[in-house]
Amino acid sequence: MPGAIAEVAAYGAAGAAALGLAAGGLAYASLWPTSQIFGRTLIAGNNADEVALTFDDGPNDAATPQLLDVLARYGVRATFFVMGDFARARPEIVRQVVAAGHVLGNHTMSHPRLSTQSAARIRKELADCNAVLEEITGASVKFFRPPFGARRPYVLRAAREMGLTPVMWNVTGYDWNPIGVDGILANLDKGIARNRRRGRGSNLLLHDGGHRGMGTGRMDTVRAVDRLLSAAKQGSATRFVTVDAWARE
Ligand SMILES: [Zn+2]
Repeated sequence: MPGAIAEVAAYGAAGAAALGLAAGGLAYASLWPTSQIFGRTLIAGNNADEVALTFDDGPNDAATPQLLDVLARYGVRATFFVMGDFARARPEIVRQVVAAGHVLGNHTMSHPRLSTQSAARIRKELADCNAVLEEITGASVKFFRPPFGARRPYVLRAAREMGLTPVMWNVTGYDWNPIGVDGILANLDKGIARNRRRGRGSNLLLHDGGHRGMGTGRMDTVRAVDRLLSAAKQGSATRFVTVDAWARE
């Protein structure tokens, strides 16, 4: 873990410097996914062949089961940052996610922007989501992704005090925009290629749900993942991992 954290911190410092933290820069950096100035977060390891698929805002009965089918077809495991409210509404999908060997993470109960919430609200959002997931799965939760990527030192400290490693990302699918399967796939390919040039693994941000409500249409994301995995199967060195692979480095 120290190796991965140190490398991540160095990478984040370079990113923060490149941003130029002048007036307004701090607010921007609080949302910049690879920035480490508000505290260390886990992003990716140093093996450029390693790619983590991460899915936020589920479980979602309009896409998560279909996504699980695609992942099973390729024998790929992913990381799911789920919302406690949705997990409580669809516990059977959460159990399917875990039964298939995927990693489950905390994405708060109700998806507030934690960078502007009180300390008490932050702790409650994290603790309640942990409790819901642990009740459904019987296992403790190890990872946390802040909604919108919004964070400040207290958010990360509270998470770590609850045994949660904060996880960000370094490739954005922008799958919440109406860009279609081709658009999502282009964003993923571009991001993975950029990380490869830098000798880094890729942590892909995608969504199997939508935080505004159950039933959000995410089939373009599911199809983009299907095509990504199909292409990766054609003799590439890419190895799909879950984020715990990098926490142990
Ligand atoms: Zn989210």
